[in-house]
Amino acid sequence: MALNVVVFVGGVGGAKLAYGLAHILPPENLTIIVNTGDDFWHYGLRVCPDLDTIMYTLSGLVNKTNGWGIDGDTRAVLDAMQRYGEAPWFQLGDQDIATHLLRTQALADGETLTQITTKLNTALGVQHRVLPMTDAPVATMVDTVDQGELAFQTYFVRHRWQPVVKSLRFEGVEAAAVTPEVRAALQSADVILIGPSNPWLSIAPILAVPGMRELILAYDVPRVAVSPIIGGKAVKGPAAKLMVELGYEQTAQAVADYYGEVINGFVVDTVDAGLSLGVQHTANFEIIMNSESDRISVAKNVLQWIQAWV
Ligand code: GDP
Repeated sequence: MALNVVVFVGGVGGAKLAYGLAHILPPENLTIIVNTGDDFWHYGLRVCPDLDTIMYTLSGLVNKTNGWGIDGDTRAVLDAMQRYGEAPWFQLGDQDIATHLLRTQALADGETLTQITTKLNTALGVQHRVLPMTDAPVATMVDTVDQGELAFQTYFVRHRWQPVVKSLRFEGVEAAAVTPEVRAALQSADVILIGPSNPWLSIAPILAVPGMRELILAYDVPRVAVSPIIGGKAVKGPAAKLMVELGYEQTAQAVADYYGEVINGFVVDTVDAGLSLGVQHTANFEIIMNSESDRISVAKNVLQWIQAWV
């Protein structure tokens, strides 16, 4: 019988592991819980970048070069906006806009983000459960040295994560709640994984949802993170830069320390085999997931290693 696995993810990095897991686990045995701190309103639309990256990746629609967006998507809407003098800084493909339109309408009609996420994923043939971390709106806010506090996408996309970060906060998270769907998934989990997502930008908002940490720690199950930091560098994106700015060492070990009691297992790359990690269970194998087969083999290796110690 397959293990029940719950994996916490952000966007592109987390999607790689989620893809591998979805290839080896039947739909009823995998729940993917996704960061929504990156969500924002743009041109009147509710845009949920991490949820969409996961959905496009699992459905096979994703633009594989970027790791986000829809393959072959066009930008007629954004080009038309430019005629009005608008200078769009956030990429919204024409097909992608269909996702945002339907989600925005559903939310306006009173559906929860969980409900519309399930509908959209099901329509695209995604059978594994994809759940937002909460149904309440949460907004990651980035306080920067030079530009003051920026909304997440302004920092990340508009300013290409160049401003130096002082601190982060998750607006609205105090009023957010764990959904019944997330609770049920965690209650029946045999294994809880944290994907190789950005710990501060993608995983921290999930862990900040009131009750989430307690729920993760309530059961004596393996709780394993896969490092997004390899050889002191982020595979992609601002994780390593952010670590320095927030006062952490640029190492996989600092990621493990940051997760603290939330994890009891940690997977690093072979290049980091020499690190002494203060985690009960540790493993090292190649965790770069460039190809589809890398993703599947990392997912297999992680689960096989966990099964050996449960
Ligand atoms: P985002 O929301 O799109 O930035 O996506 P995530 O937070 O899920 O992923 C970003 C993190 O993924 C970065 O810190 C990268 O270092 C990490 N990452 C990207 N590709 C890989 C990979 O192939 N292997 C590992 N171990 N980490 C990766």
